[in-house]
Amino acid sequence: MPKHDTVIHWFRRDLRLTDNTALNMAAIDGAQVVPVYVLSDWQKTHHWTGSIRQQFLCGCLESLAKNVETLGSKLILRTGRADLEIEKLIKETKASAVYFNRDYDPYGREMEKKVQAVCARYAVSCHSFKDRVLHEAGEVLTGSGGPYRVYTPYSRNWLALDKTAPLGKAKTLGAASTIPSDPLPTLDHWQLPATAATLPAPGERAARERMKSFIENRTLMSYAQKRNTPAGVSTSRLGQDLRFGLISIRELHAQCMAAAALATTADARTSIETYIKELAWREFYLAILWFYPSVFEEEFSTDFRSMPWPGSDEDFTAWSQGRTGFPIVDAGMRELLNTGFMHNRVRMIVSMFLTKDLHCHWKLGESFFMQHLVDGENASNNGGWQWSAGTGADAAPYFRIQNPWTQTKNYDPDGAYIRQWVPELKGVSPERFQAPPKDGRALAPGYPLPIVDHGTERERTLAMFAKYRQK
Ligand SMILES: Cc1cc2nc3c(=O)[nH]c(=O)nc-3n(C[C@H](O)[C@H](O)[C@H](O)COP(=O)(O)OP(=O)(O)OC[C@H]3O[C@@H](n4cnc5c(N)ncnc54)[C@H](O)[C@@H]3O)c2cc1C
Repeated sequence: MPKHDTVIHWFRRDLRLTDNTALNMAAIDGAQVVPVYVLSDWQKTHHWTGSIRQQFLCGCLESLAKNVETLGSKLILRTGRADLEIEKLIKETKASAVYFNRDYDPYGREMEKKVQAVCARYAVSCHSFKDRVLHEAGEVLTGSGGPYRVYTPYSRNWLALDKTAPLGKAKTLGAASTIPSDPLPTLDHWQLPATAATLPAPGERAARERMKSFIENRTLMSYAQKRNTPAGVSTSRLGQDLRFGLISIRELHAQCMAAAALATTADARTSIETYIKELAWREFYLAILWFYPSVFEEEFSTDFRSMPWPGSDEDFTAWSQGRTGFPIVDAGMRELLNTGFMHNRVRMIVSMFLTKDLHCHWKLGESFFMQHLVDGENASNNGGWQWSAGTGADAAPYFRIQNPWTQTKNYDPDGAYIRQWVPELKGVSPERFQAPPKDGRALAPGYPLPIVDHGTERERTLAMFAKYRQK
């Protein structure tokens, strides 16, 4: 017997029906589940999002609405502040319980507190669940019970913990609610311009197909060997699916473990282990944000909090448009602008270039990435930017500054990635992407000369960091 006549499930970063912890519990406890998504009401510009990710969100909501209908229910959309909208919904539906999966960033946590306060005011029970991660921040602690500040010991502890198995899918959500819903959003909802970027297919089904194909077509089995090659598809491309909760992290982990049990070569087993360690990076950064929410405002490392970032607007613009004259940097930025994706190796190259060669503040890059990445996720993005800038938790040591020319030689030796994204360089031989032009002439008509000299800027960065580093 269900405990409640009507309950609300508040969809957040869990836009799926399969293996959704809070939704499954709502379906067990409630005879009728009213599934709700609350759209944000900011308009035109947002320093942390833009057309690309919102376009993907629109598609995910459309797909979720259809999926919810297959369970005989109806997705209710509302716009505004989640706590205020949930309050209205409690009154409209006479729901006696609210269910949701926990979020870990400061904004999500604050909104959860407000929703809990609304529930308390109306004597409605409020149930929150772990769903977005395998291990919440408080589960992975040092021997003395504190947070880890370094990834390797964190990951060792994380890997050793038991993992929860997937739970399956709710069979019914009960009768569809007759209360009004806002229409499915388009970019007009936020007054955002259309995007010409080619995005991955949105929605749970497309995400499940990507997960299946990653595991079955052997990309997983060769992940350790190929994951640093930006040309072609060498990684899972599941970032946006984890970001929006289109797939469950439990299911992804369980499928990797099942593949590991069947793996017949040491390379395949190493690849799966390497991949799972990347999933631990995601949770490491979520844990950093949980324990140190001030990383959004300031450097994790206290040494560098007052260090200046004297980069120019002009250089930032050249970087953001993919016109720096460093082919690997320009290829990465143009991949981002055209697809909302950038390969991890290239994310490291372009972020280190912006901070260490152009001396622009990491927050400028952080914000630009959030505005353009389809998988833009504030904990991982902040972690990645602070890692590259040399200011973060377990960051690249400040003196280890990647050389974009050498990186090109190592990871795009035949220039396939560069030629894909910088078409004006199609006819140029790959060796010329691996060093500044010796003759001082542009690589192709209209293509810029390198805007800085890497060696000179590296020295400037080293001097700056040495000055601020605590002796
Ligand atoms: C400057 C910078 C910014 C970044 N911004 C984001 C971001 O906004 N959102 C995001 O999900 N990742 C971010 N990353 C991490 C990483 O680049 C992406 O997760 C990865 O490229 C996504 O592609 P994939 O799914 O094919 O990755 P795969 O290599 O297949 O990895 C699988 C999953 O593991 C997780 N993961 C892998 N590497 C990392 C990492 N270094 N940190 C955290 N999680 C990781 C992601 O969830 C990823 O989808 C950033 C990295 C850098 C250097």
